[in-house]
Amino acid sequence: HNQFDILIIGGGPIGLACGIEAQKAGLSYVIVEKGCLVNSLYNYPLNMTFFSTSDRLEIGGVPFVSIQPKPTRSEALEYYRRVTTNYDLNIRLFERVNAVDKQENRFTVTTSKATYEAKNIIVSTGFYDIPNLLNIPGEDLPKVRHYYHDPHFYAFQNVVVIGANNSSVDVALETYRKGAQVTMVVREGEVGRRVKYWVKPDIENRIAEGSIKAYFNSKLAAIRENEVDIHTPEGIITIPNDYVMAMTGYQPNFSLLRSFGVQLSEDEKLAPTYNSDTMETNVPGLYLAGVVCGGMDTHSWFIENSREHAPKIIGAILKR
Ligand code: FAD
Repeated sequence: HNQFDILIIGGGPIGLACGIEAQKAGLSYVIVEKGCLVNSLYNYPLNMTFFSTSDRLEIGGVPFVSIQPKPTRSEALEYYRRVTTNYDLNIRLFERVNAVDKQENRFTVTTSKATYEAKNIIVSTGFYDIPNLLNIPGEDLPKVRHYYHDPHFYAFQNVVVIGANNSSVDVALETYRKGAQVTMVVREGEVGRRVKYWVKPDIENRIAEGSIKAYFNSKLAAIRENEVDIHTPEGIITIPNDYVMAMTGYQPNFSLLRSFGVQLSEDEKLAPTYNSDTMETNVPGLYLAGVVCGGMDTHSWFIENSREHAPKIIGAILKR
């Protein structure tokens, strides 16, 4: 009885949306998630606020009520948990999909716990599991972090924050306000344009007044136990350092996609091949949903604009 019309890989918001649409269409399905429910959101910074208003994060037509227009991480966890209960979604947690093999018109899926057969596969694995690396000496030291949870840990420490987009700016402001000495190292000449409009003046003013030091047009060159070297337009400088917050973005699991037979573009985007009307890849019966679709361009898709992948895919499966 491990046979389904659809096996959905990943229990993020978009994987859940696909499960809901499958259920509404009367198709049998299972969602297989390697971590906890909405694992990426669970691993966001604890005090994080979404840039989307709550109505734009809704799936399955369930209203998302939040106190402020833009919900917090904990409100989102509450919401997606309630949606899962409400639809009684068929989801297996803490089970990783390791392989998908296609024979004739059936897929065999091997996970860390079981083997499944499915007529269709939806890959909604997101991009939050593999950080983009700096490729500099010292990057493998344990004080280099690609995920950030809570500011208290960094109180009274010398913290370097790499980058000046939303994640970096949130880390810089939060840790500065809990007593860290914060230095930002920014490749570009200014704070990122996508930074939440209500946060941007805060970071720009802290930099202007010197409470947060920022080196623009600069790169981190090397990391050592107690200091770092920064490549600035004025030459290399060395400053004392306890933690490096490398908020350099993340990338989809390209080797997993390749192992499924999905073709990726030859350029640096590594864009997966799919039909944007149906979301079907070059592998018939294997579909992509959610932010995994963007390849290295991880900012092109978010919950707001990718939740519509779910009805598209289920519509296409029903037609076949
Ligand atoms: P994910 O939520 O990443 O879900 C993918 C799931 O697949 C994960 O739970 C993962 O554990 C699982 N998985 C991966 N590999 C396997 C495997 N081999 N086997 C089983 N399971 C697997 N978007 C917005 O619309 N509004 C916002 O305000 C917003 N704020 C954001 C803030 C931050 C800090 C970040 C990082 C992103 C934000 N985004 C926002 C983007 C948003 O996170 C994504 O749009 C959303 O998580 C995408 O959902 P998804 O279901 O496609 O992927």
